[in-house]
Amino acid sequence: MMKIAVACGLVLSSLLAVSSTAEQFDFFYFVQQWPGSFCDTWRGCCFPDTGKPAADFGIHGLWPNYAKCHGGGGDDASSFFSIVGRRGRCWPEYCEEDGNALSPWEIRDLVASLARNWPTLSCRSGDSFEFWSYEWKKHGTCSNLRPHDYFARALALKAAHNLTAILAAAGIVPSDTETYSLSGVSDAIAAATGATANLQCNRDKDGQAQLYQVFQCVDREAKQLIDCPLHMRSRCSGGSVKLPLF
Ligand code: 5GP
Repeated sequence: MMKIAVACGLVLSSLLAVSSTAEQFDFFYFVQQWPGSFCDTWRGCCFPDTGKPAADFGIHGLWPNYAKCHGGGGDDASSFFSIVGRRGRCWPEYCEEDGNALSPWEIRDLVASLARNWPTLSCRSGDSFEFWSYEWKKHGTCSNLRPHDYFARALALKAAHNLTAILAAAGIVPSDTETYSLSGVSDAIAAATGATANLQCNRDKDGQAQLYQVFQCVDREAKQLIDCPLHMRSRCSGGSVKLPLF
């Protein structure tokens, strides 16, 4: 009897330990950037050490997100999560204070694919591994996934829903002169993937709106697309956008 009670206690305490450390976010944003739009701004861009990336959407990140922002009152569940002290947030971030550095060894079999599909375009460093480490530290540590699964699932999502090909099939191809209706872009993505996405624009040097990032929404396992539960402010005023050459 005693042994059973001890065993039950152990099971219960390990369950509690798991549930109190698991992040309770609602969905992931899977964010991809159009390289032409990242580069074609007043700030410009730099190519990574591995060379000019393909004219293809590149991964920016896989971000755990709450369906409802946690208010600043301190009375909601935010104190339950590991973002204690960061109230009024819409997503968790930096979930492991210690021991959260990404190890190149852990993702060694993914590096070639990551370099192609998740290249840095920032001029801060030509080292894409720095970009992946940053994304892991800020967002990945809150994903309830080990680093290898986190990066492998992002790559699998990109491969399963090839945005560049989806848009091309709808006649939305890179061009420095054409503009495309925003609804045409969202409809093409929704029809091909079965899920609505959020679009984000930025502006080129002449102030013209261009499609910058596509935010697709993904279940908590980072496996299946879902309709985005939230609408973001798109910064795509005017209804038509460019998809500049890269
Ligand atoms: P986040 O938007 O994930 O919070 O931050 C992105 C960080 O990664 C920024 O500090 C940015 O400078 C850096 N970064 C490095 N390469 C890239 C890139 O290709 N695209 C974007 N959007 N950010 C990058």
